[in-house]
Amino acid sequence: MSEGKIIIISAPSGCGKSTIINALLERGNVRMQFSVSATNRAPRTGEKHGVNYYFLTDEEFRKAIDEDAFVEYEEVYPGRFYGTLKSEVERRCAAGENVVLDIDVKGGMRVKQMFSDKAKSIFIKPPTVEALRTRLEGRGTDSPEAIDERVRKAEYELSFAPEYDCVVVNDDLQQAIDNTEREILEFTC
Ligand code: ADP
Ligand code: 5GP
Repeated sequence: MSEGKIIIISAPSGCGKSTIINALLERGNVRMQFSVSATNRAPRTGEKHGVNYYFLTDEEFRKAIDEDAFVEYEEVYPGRFYGTLKSEVERRCAAGENVVLDIDVKGGMRVKQMFSDKAKSIFIKPPTVEALRTRLEGRGTDSPEAIDERVRKAEYELSFAPEYDCVVVNDDLQQAIDNTEREILEFTC
C-alpha cells in the first residue's frame, strides 16, 4: 500500500480555512482525514476537545514537547502554542490515508520541508485585509483585542503566500471550496 499524502492549508486567521476544510470533509469527494492539533488556547464556544483541537493546559503542552509528541509546534500568538501531533499524522499516512493540516505559515513551511513531494501546501487568501476583519467580527468568537492581533498578524502571514505550492482566494466561498478541492484532487489522485 502506498503512503498517504499531507495537505497543508494555511491562511491568516478568519480567512475561511476551517469553513473550507469542513465543507470538503462533508462533501467527501477528496479522501482525507483532519489532523486534530493540540493547543493551549481556550476553546471557543462550540469547539470540542478532540474534534477541533486537543485543548491542553500550559503544563500538558510542555509535557508533550518534552515527550517529543509533535511533528512541529509554534508559538503562533504570544503565549499561545499550537502543534501537529505525530499520533495524528504518522499512523494514518503509514496506513495510506491522506491527512489535512490546518496550520500557521511557519509550521506549514516546516512540514513542507520535512515531507517535500509527499506534501502539497495551499495558501488561502482573503480578498482584502478589511474583508478579513469583517469576517472575524462576524464570526463573533474573538474579543476586539484578539481581532486586532489577528489582523495585524495577517499582513505578515500574507507575505508567505508565494512560498506555497498554490494560492486560493476566498472571495466567493463556493468557488474557493471548488478550487481547493481541485488542487487537492490533482495531488492525491
Ligand atoms: P479560519 O478557520 O481561517 O480562522 P473560519 O473558517 O472560521 O476562518 O471563517 C471565519 C468567518 O468567515 C466565519 O464566520 C465564516 O463563516 C466566514 N467566511 C468564510 N469564508 C467566507 C466568504 N467567502 N465570504 C464571507 N464570509 C466567509
Ligand atoms: P485559531 O486559534 O484561529 O484556531 O488558530 C490560530 C492559528 O494557529 C491558525 O493560523 C492555525 O492555522 C494555526 N494552527 C492550528 N493548528 C496548528 C498546528 O498544529 N501547528 C501550527 N504551527 N499552527 C497551527
